[in-house]
Order: sequence, then C-alpha cells, then structure tokens
Amino acid sequence: MVKVREKAEKAPVADKKPARAAKPKKVVAAAKKPAKISGMNKHETDANDDKVYFMALGGLEHIGQNMYLYKYKGKYLVVDCGMGFLEEEIGAGDVQYCDTTWLEKRKKDVVGFVITHGHEDHIGALKYIWPKFRKPIYCTRFPAEILIQTFRGMEMDFNPEKDIVVFDHNGATLKLDPFEVETFHVSHSVPEAQMLIIKTPAGKILHTGDWTFNDDNPIEAPTDFARLREIGSDPKLLACMSDSTSASRQEKQTTETQVRDTFTRLMQEAPGRVIVTGYSRSIARMKMFAEAAHAAGRVAAIKERSNPNPVPYVGLPEFREMGMEFGYLGKDDVYLHSEIKDLPAEKQAIFLTGSQGEQFAMLTRLCRGHVKEMKLMPTDTVLFSSIIIPGREQDVSFLYNKLARMGI
Ligand SMILES: [Zn+2]
Repeated sequence: MVKVREKAEKAPVADKKPARAAKPKKVVAAAKKPAKISGMNKHETDANDDKVYFMALGGLEHIGQNMYLYKYKGKYLVVDCGMGFLEEEIGAGDVQYCDTTWLEKRKKDVVGFVITHGHEDHIGALKYIWPKFRKPIYCTRFPAEILIQTFRGMEMDFNPEKDIVVFDHNGATLKLDPFEVETFHVSHSVPEAQMLIIKTPAGKILHTGDWTFNDDNPIEAPTDFARLREIGSDPKLLACMSDSTSASRQEKQTTETQVRDTFTRLMQEAPGRVIVTGYSRSIARMKMFAEAAHAAGRVAAIKERSNPNPVPYVGLPEFREMGMEFGYLGKDDVYLHSEIKDLPAEKQAIFLTGSQGEQFAMLTRLCRGHVKEMKLMPTDTVLFSSIIIPGREQDVSFLYNKLARMGI
C-alpha cells in the first residue's frame, strides 16, 4: 500500500556536448528490441504459459484499495480499482490508491477492468488509474452511472459508449481473451453486486467481491446460491478468492426488514424530527428508511448539499436520483429536505451522510453548526444506521459527544 502523489516533471537538462559538424547518417534496418522491464521473470511474456496467476495490488487485510490481477498466457485481467481513503467520498483530504507502475509497463497486455460493484473502495481509483491504461471497463449500470458522472465531473477524456461496457446485473458472460468471465448476482449493501467466475482452459477461479448474503434485500433478488453451490463442486475450480469486510464475524446479518421495523418503532416513539445517517449508496437502506417513515406517519427526505461541491463527486442526491431512475425507489419515496422543511418536526424523517464522522459530511457539519438552513434541536432523534468502519472510532465518538452535549 502506498500513498501516490503525482511526480513533478523533470526539468529539461541542457545539452553540454560541443557542437560538431553533422555527419551523414547511415540508414540501418534493425529490429526494435523490446524494452527490458525490471522485475520480469522468464515466464513473464510467455504466451504458452498455461498457469493462472493471481496478484493483489491492494485490498487484502485492510479496508479499501481493492485491486486484483489475474494473469494467463501473458495477459492481465484487472478486477476492481478502489480508493483506500474514506474521506474521498465526501470530497476532502489526500487520496490513496494502488501504485500501478509495475502494471503500466505491461499495459499492452492488460485486457480490461472488470468491476464487481459500485462501492468507492472497488471503483473509486478508476478516475486516477484508468487514464494510464484506457482499457475497457466492464460493469453493471449502477457503477457505470457513478463512473460516467464522476469522469464527466472531472472533465476526463473518455467515451462512455466505447470505454464502459455495461453488462446485465442479473448475470452475463464477458469475453476478454484469453479469459472468459461469468458474472452472477450476490446480495450486498449496494445494488447489482456481482460474483465472478474467471475461466481459462487451465481452470476456473471464483472471485466473490464483497457480499452480504442479506436474503430479504427489498430491492433485489437474493444471491444466486444455486450457481454458487454448483461452482463450489465444479472439478475445474482452482480457488475461491474472497475478502469481504466483517467476513470473519460469526453472528447473523441483520436483515433490511429488521432494520425497517426498528426504524418504524423508533420513528413512532420519537417526539420530534428523526435523523438517520448511513451509507449514501445503500439504496436498499434508503428504501427501508422511506417505508418506516411512511408507516410512522412521517415524510422521508434526504438532506441535500448546502454548499457547492469542493471537488466533483457523486453523493447522496445523485444516488437518490439513480435509485429512482433504475426503479429501486418510487418517485414519492424520498423527497429533498428543502421540500419538507416546513412540515411540523414530528412529521419529518431525514436521511443524511456522515455515519463515520467524516470531516465534511452533513452530520459532522450539523454538529459543528455549519449548516445555515438546518440546525439540530434537543428534540431531534439521531439514528446511526451503519457499523463503525475500523479506524473511524474516534471520529464517530466525536459525534456522539457533540450530540450528547446538545441534549440529543
Ligand atoms: Zn462493498
């Protein structure tokens, strides 16, 4: 894991050779030698090497920066390309992603990027890394929309029709010679997550991506367990590559309908406004929040930005739009705060960002009193609807203390 910063360009060096009379040049036909690449082993470019290699450029044993390589017959398939610094989601601070210098030297042999799902730690570094490769990105429509909006916001030179290949979120077969990649649906906290079966004549590898196995997901079909069972007993399966946050926790996952029922009860009991904070791209959670609000006689809304973006990024308002566009949210499920702010407090339920105490996210700004059009009140109830991501404990406890001091 490295922190990557752009290098300053070298200053041009003055030519110190004394000027000489130009000699007539000999024209010699010579085959161009391939450039020597440091760290290359003797099998490196062997198009007949029948082994499958796996390399993790990032993502193992820590949160974020997921980027993996599969190599077969001298060709490289990239799976995911994520950010390693959570502050990026709210557009502040340094950024961290994988150092791809090694892979850039093998750029001509990279066949493409396959994206498992649209979380920032799986797609967020494409905006920095993809321009160095310009190879097709294969993903479903939800991450594709995030990428298109992000690339456009950064005024990147790209052609969405050519550079981003959208495949069916119910499953697809992708041909990236010499690989074939079969995808199938897995439940996760962002829509359209995919497991990959990477197929070569030498064997198959199951690459799970992140998974939640939340089988009452209200906006999607459950995980394709039949396909998972089938591939598990396939004699051609060489390995299963799997690394998902909290995968080692033994207890059962809380289901989305359980979360909705808890929301409903708390919203019925709360004397004033209810504020829920969670992950902005968890459309299923937004849907549960909306259903609970309706059941408790409240109107659901998100808190939109109150200041212009410090950098172009896709955030809560855009995810709400995508949720409606792709049919995961109804048109009247979730309004904007500006549309409901004049309702009585006990009729309001507001979803906003900042569950991890991110410096510039809405809840932190509210706690600091930095939002002109919305102030926290002692009668408010604030619900944290996410786990604390390892490493964020201090920032979250700052919020708890601030809220407690306000009498919330
Ligand atoms: Zn994820």
